Order: sequence, then C-alpha cells, then structure tokens
Amino acid sequence: MGKIRLLDEHIANQIAAGEVVERPASVVKELVENSIDAGSSRIDVVAEEGGLQLIRVTDNGSGIESEDCELAFYRHATSKIQSGKDLFSIRTLGFRGEALPSIAAVSKTEFVTSTDGSGLGRKLAVEGGDVVTQEETSARKGTDISVKELFYNTPARLKYMKTIQTELGHISDYMYRLALAHPEIAFTLKHNGNSLLQTLGGGDLLQVIAGVYGSAVGKQMIAVGGESLDYKISGYISRPELNRANRSAMSIMVNGRYVRSFAVQHAIMNGFHTLLPINRFPVVVLHIEMDPSLVDVNVHPSKLEVRFSKEPELVKMIEDMIKEALGRQVLIPKGVQAS
Ligand code: ADP
Ligand code: MG
Repeated sequence: MGKIRLLDEHIANQIAAGEVVERPASVVKELVENSIDAGSSRIDVVAEEGGLQLIRVTDNGSGIESEDCELAFYRHATSKIQSGKDLFSIRTLGFRGEALPSIAAVSKTEFVTSTDGSGLGRKLAVEGGDVVTQEETSARKGTDISVKELFYNTPARLKYMKTIQTELGHISDYMYRLALAHPEIAFTLKHNGNSLLQTLGGGDLLQVIAGVYGSAVGKQMIAVGGESLDYKISGYISRPELNRANRSAMSIMVNGRYVRSFAVQHAIMNGFHTLLPINRFPVVVLHIEMDPSLVDVNVHPSKLEVRFSKEPELVKMIEDMIKEALGRQVLIPKGVQAS
C-alpha cells in the first residue's frame, strides 16, 4: 500500500497559517484588505494587547451572503477570481482565498455579517478551525469580525511574539499604509481604548499624510503627478530639507496596494539627485494606477513584491516627474534656513 496521502483541510489550514499569519499585524492587514475589497467607505479597527487578545474589524461593505459564510472559511474559497486567466489582471487586494481559514485555524474567530439593510444577518463562530456556532442574528449591513486569543493553540508561535509595543508598532505601520493607499476610506485604529489613527475618508491624500506623519510634515509636501498611455501617477514628495534616516516613509501604491519596488525607490532617489544629504531619504507617497495586466502581484503570498512589465518606462517617468516638481520649487539653500 502506498504511503502518501492528502492532508485533511484542518492540517492544511494550520500549515498555511504559519505563513499567512506571522503576527497580529498580518491579521489586521488581511481583515482590512477584505473590508476594502468589499467596497467599504468606513473601516474601524480595535486591537487589545498588541492584537494578541483581540483584533476587531468593523466595515460597512458588501457583507457575505448567508449561504457563503461557512465556505468563506475554506481554503482557496474566494469570490474574487474565477479562472486562471483572472490571475493576470487582479483588481482586488485578495484573491488567494487563504486569509480567513488561516486566521481561523489559529484563533477564536467570530463574525456577524449582513448584505442588506434588512437588519438581519448571520453570525458564525470558529475555534481553531472548527465552526462551533452558526445562526441568524440582527446585524447592520457590512461585516464585523473579531479575532480573539491569536495563537492560543500554537504555543511555539505565541512564544515568539515580541512585546505589546512592538506588535502594536507593526499594526499601526500597516494601518498607516492602508490609509495612505485609500484616502477615500474613513479609517480608525484604537488600541486598549486609545485612538491612534483617524482619517476622514474624503479622498484628500495630503490630509491623510498630515494625519500619519503630523501636520508639520503635511505642510512641507509638494504635489506631483504625471500621465502616460500606461501609467497615471499622483502623490506627494517632501521638500528636500525634510528627510529621514531610512526609506520607511517612502510609500508606493499600485492600484490601491502598498508594494515594495526597489526600481521605483531608486527612481525617486535619482529624481532628488544631489538635493538630499547622503544617506537621507524623503517622505514620499506615490499612487500609481495602471492596467492590472501589466503588473504581476502573484509573486509572493504577502503580495508585497510586484513585477512591472514596462518597468523602464515607469522608472523614467517617475524620475522626470520628481526632477520637474523640484525644479519648480524655489529651494532654500542649506545654511540660510530659518531656525
Ligand atoms: P480572499 O480575500 O483571497 O478572497 P479570504 O479568505 O480573505 O480570501 O476571504 C474569503 C472570502 O470571504 C472573500 O473572497 C470574500 O468573498 C469574503 N469576505 C471576507 N471578508 C469579507 C468582508 N469584510 N466583507 C465581505 N466579504 C468578505
Ligand atoms: Mg482576503
């Protein structure tokens, strides 16, 4: 008799969880991305004890149909793509159908969801991957999902977690990026009762930048933009006098997704050329809109790395755009700056 067998769904989910749910911030990222994909205009996030006790995300999006509620917790179950060919033009943040089953496998998860204004919806509770209750309930349109006691059944992973402050730092980093990527959505983030982020959702990117980096930074930003057949770029760069010791305030968004691109970072730095002191980096938020078939986001499960199929064109456009915007500014020479 052969020895190879297919793992059951339960074990497969636990294995996937190891990769998808690295820490509380990964849960925040996946849940908020689901809320964004659901077309929400308002997303509220509450965390307790660095997210290890509780992560709760409430949205006013499309909700999940009653008959889909259980299926949503199955691996590779998604409403976002249908065929292999859809993979070549992803318009949503999610598409792998891995987040909910992975999160539910390593926590006590509960959600209430409703697709309409009838006041009725569905409530589902899952513990360590097993559905424990499912019932009709009263609910507002949208989805309210709570993830409690993350890693309660994976002690090795729980032990690996850093301090509450460190985990919270990762959570707020993700929230800042998501807010910068979606100025049209009103976000709030609360930790142990304290408010850490609040955006208005009016679509004003500069307002979100000021909310994330402070109003002094907001006042030092220069608007940039450009358009070609393939790309539409808009955003803000800091005046060269405002600079930082690392690249963490350089945010690149492609079709509403925060991504990492060394090529684009490099293009930005080339645009600033010698205006920045050595080893100093600007504050930048760039929104790049493009045909989704020209960018591959399916490089890694985190979807952080992307591949552009017309990269040289994009790089040149960004470099020229920044040079031009800085050239238009009357730059205060170093040394004569008002103190
Ligand atoms: P993916 O996002 O890759 O499709 P998930 O496991 O994150 O996979 O979610 C599974 C499915 O559950 C989604 O495709 C979507 O249909 C539904 N879903 C999850 N969260 C929400 C939400 N907040 N609002 C509406 N639908 C949701
Ligand atoms: Mg998802």
